[in-house]
Amino acid sequence: MYVAVDDTDSCRGMCTTYLLAKMIAEMPYDLIGMPRLVRLNPAVPWKTRGNGALSMRIGIGGGERTLVGESRGHEIFCYSYLKEEPNAKEVLHWASRYLDDNAEPDANPGLIVSLLKPPQRLYWSGVRDILLMDDVKTILSGMGALIYSKGNGRGVIGAACGMAWRPRDRTLELLAYRPRERWGTDRYLDPDSVERMDSETVSTFNNIEIRRRKVAISPSTPCPVLYGIRGEDREELLTARRMLVSEEPEMWLIFMTNQGTDDHMVKDAATLLPNRSYRLKATVAGRARDQRGGHVFIPVRCEHGIIECAAYEPSKEFRSLIRALRPGDVVEVMGELRETPRSLNLEKVRVLEIAESRIKTANPRCPRCGRAMKSVGRDAGYRCRNCSVYLSEEQAPTEPESRQLVPGWYEPPVCSRRHLSKPLCRMGEYQPIDFV
Ligand code: ATP
Repeated sequence: MYVAVDDTDSCRGMCTTYLLAKMIAEMPYDLIGMPRLVRLNPAVPWKTRGNGALSMRIGIGGGERTLVGESRGHEIFCYSYLKEEPNAKEVLHWASRYLDDNAEPDANPGLIVSLLKPPQRLYWSGVRDILLMDDVKTILSGMGALIYSKGNGRGVIGAACGMAWRPRDRTLELLAYRPRERWGTDRYLDPDSVERMDSETVSTFNNIEIRRRKVAISPSTPCPVLYGIRGEDREELLTARRMLVSEEPEMWLIFMTNQGTDDHMVKDAATLLPNRSYRLKATVAGRARDQRGGHVFIPVRCEHGIIECAAYEPSKEFRSLIRALRPGDVVEVMGELRETPRSLNLEKVRVLEIAESRIKTANPRCPRCGRAMKSVGRDAGYRCRNCSVYLSEEQAPTEPESRQLVPGWYEPPVCSRRHLSKPLCRMGEYQPIDFV
């Protein structure tokens, strides 16, 4: 039986992963395969934080038993196959109690219990597009799925999309949770131990920003999560957990996830719509502009016309790449298209070709009297005060600019990456220049 939940939390607290972990720790069923944390369209305007839906398969398990978690000293295992299905109505009754007891009052939780998985296309729409509740409900009722919801019930959309996921690419995350009495208090997690874990494990990623010593595995919200270690390999996540020096978690659980896969990126789009993420080949169409607040914008030209790309302040040294781009550079840009201001919020850039660029060396001399001309204003050309001759900006003397850039992939630092963004280390790539 497949069980999926979404939208149980609010900005004040809770976390749907915690709710599922608690259900698993206490359930009268076996877990079949790993529980799943499925990130959906990160541009959905009504998401609370990371737009994550949760899904699992339960019943009477058979085959190999694999350790995937621990709760108050009791180990949690998952089984390799399902021997017997439980009763769907009983499962719904049991699971809905958790939603009633644990969902935040202002959340819009949705719970689905189903013998069958929704079609795979529902996952791809959920991770890349915006879905309507009626369309999702039509699919679910066609499958005979049981639904329980509260509030406006919007969580049903995420739950259905999460349940529909068949991994094409996947990663794992080991999430550790704090006991309820510590929620909202300062977390104790030794940054040195995170740094050691980062350097001594090979398949974990997005652990720490070494230069700033900023730990990326621990949230700053009052939610139940103590830390989340992202990686590829279950055994190595268990090793990584043992390497961390922290307060004692009450529970930990390994989820299979679509994090770090770039599943949200739409390639070769026919039209560009806001609140979706795109991968576009483009040519830089102007210089970068710094705006108040530390945000950097740059126009690029692609088959859809001119698009403003943005690297916001939290992306830190990634903005140096944007500032180093020049008109004519050929790039591939990946990011979320925002509605207002209409801009592509950059998640990754691939520099393909570096154009020749020239820099002005001096104001031009007047072709009539030979005196140095004065600038009329920014990008407005030059005028001779003596004989009123006008020259355009392009007529100033220039020399070739030495470009501080090489082709390759560039990404923001660890702490400003999206859950779904595939880090370069997973792509077998590395950033050719480290901006400081
Ligand atoms: P957290 O990551 O902390 O669990 P969240 O960011 O997942 O929180 P939710 O509270 O789950 O936030 O809110 C996301 C809401 O958006 C859910 O109700 C979910 O059903 C809905 N949703 C998710 N993806 C889509 C989509 N592609 N189209 C329409 N609605 C969606």
